[in-house]
Amino acid sequence: MRPVRAFAAALIVLASAAPAHAAPAPAAPAPAAGAFSQATLTRARAARDAGLRDDAGYDALRELCTQVGPRLAGSPGDARAVAWGLETMKRMGFSNVRAETVTVPRWERGECHVEITAPWPQPLVACALGGSVATPEEGVEAEVVAAGSIDELKALGEARVRGRIVFFRGHMERARTGMGYGAAVTVRGRGASEAAKLGAVGVLIRSIGTDSNRDPHTGAMRYDSTGTRIAALSLSAPDADLLDRQIASGKAVRLRMRNTSRSAGVAVSAKVIGEFPGRGAGAGIVVVGGHLDSWDLGQGAHDDGAGCVIMLAAAKHAAAAGPPRHTIRVVLFANEEFGLSGARGYATRHEAELARHVVAMESDLGAFDVWGLETGFGPGRETLVTPLMSVLAPVCTEYVGNGTRGGADTGPLTSRGVPALQLATDARPYFDLHHSANDTFDKVDVALLRENIAGYAALIVMAASGDVDFGRLPPAAATPVATPVATPAATPR
Ligand code: ZN
Ligand code: ZN
Repeated sequence: MRPVRAFAAALIVLASAAPAHAAPAPAAPAPAAGAFSQATLTRARAARDAGLRDDAGYDALRELCTQVGPRLAGSPGDARAVAWGLETMKRMGFSNVRAETVTVPRWERGECHVEITAPWPQPLVACALGGSVATPEEGVEAEVVAAGSIDELKALGEARVRGRIVFFRGHMERARTGMGYGAAVTVRGRGASEAAKLGAVGVLIRSIGTDSNRDPHTGAMRYDSTGTRIAALSLSAPDADLLDRQIASGKAVRLRMRNTSRSAGVAVSAKVIGEFPGRGAGAGIVVVGGHLDSWDLGQGAHDDGAGCVIMLAAAKHAAAAGPPRHTIRVVLFANEEFGLSGARGYATRHEAELARHVVAMESDLGAFDVWGLETGFGPGRETLVTPLMSVLAPVCTEYVGNGTRGGADTGPLTSRGVPALQLATDARPYFDLHHSANDTFDKVDVALLRENIAGYAALIVMAASGDVDFGRLPPAAATPVATPVATPAATPR
């Protein structure tokens, strides 16, 4: 998750890093922030208001959820989603519409059965985590040992873990910022490898989610390159509660689990890209997007069909409000969920033009209430915040700070200096649905979808106006995008 930092504090730190008396190397002076013109402000308000009346986004999302549905990277649904993206962009008036191919890992879910065999036998509702290996054909049966975290698991030690099934029982905190996700998701990503090191024969986690439905939440896990690979499954919250209650009895609890998922080589997928071109040879690029792939259990309505249609519709309204100075580029990223292939592919393929990327925006937290704005500007850009907040006023009024470094798909851009803009939205309902069979179109509220479209439409107008310079972010360690589960700052969601 994105850390939330105070804008002022961040800027003070950055400013104090370059004291006037030191100045050893005569660095080129940073360009001034500039100021938004009245014409830009007027256009941004017009785009925002058009967004608040938008139907195109909701219609497109209905179509994606109805005609494509689940679209795990490399699956037939993923290929249909790419075709849908190309057609939708053309229909919405984008130029330079194209697919940029990427190679993605394939994984097939198979079947998953979990039951308590003692002391009080009951079936449990579970699903495999993305990337899990199968159990042996006959399944595994063993006593359960529970741990609240990887540290707790390590404290149990090999004597308590060897030959057992590890149950990670920790709960994800339900918070408006979504801050509970980064902390909770560690066991999903690394739990199986850590448990296998201590001799465990299987892993179950309490779903990384905040609902109480009997629907497990999936999501990417990964194995260490060496070491034993054991199956990693996710229990629905009520089933995790049930298991907890049996464990609390003090009797030995035994589980049987059987899973048949498998890796299936690689496949070709694609990012889908379309533009509203800017003016003149010096035009920069405002890149905005979401990810087109989804997990296989639901319809990928909020994660991240919503993000895709929010940016498609927002870009359309921004361009309709007046010809942009900078090119507005929408990227529907490929395989965010299972390896960030599209994010990595975009940053690599477009490396030569990254200096012309004036700002990046990503929507990947569903279509829920917009409550604030987060920026990720270079130093000395404080004056840009007030006009941005003024055009967002009917949508949101809270300024979160200058701490965003984008999301999982734009992380490779911000780590190379591209500044970021992001609406802060209510993460509580998002993590109720996220990666579960419940992430379906009926959960989308058209008024909230429009709020997101309106907010981004206004931001895109402002960013593409060419009136201002958002600066550059200090270079960061390259975002580790080669594995399905990256650092918390770029956790796939
Ligand atoms: Zn996701
Ligand atoms: Zn997502």
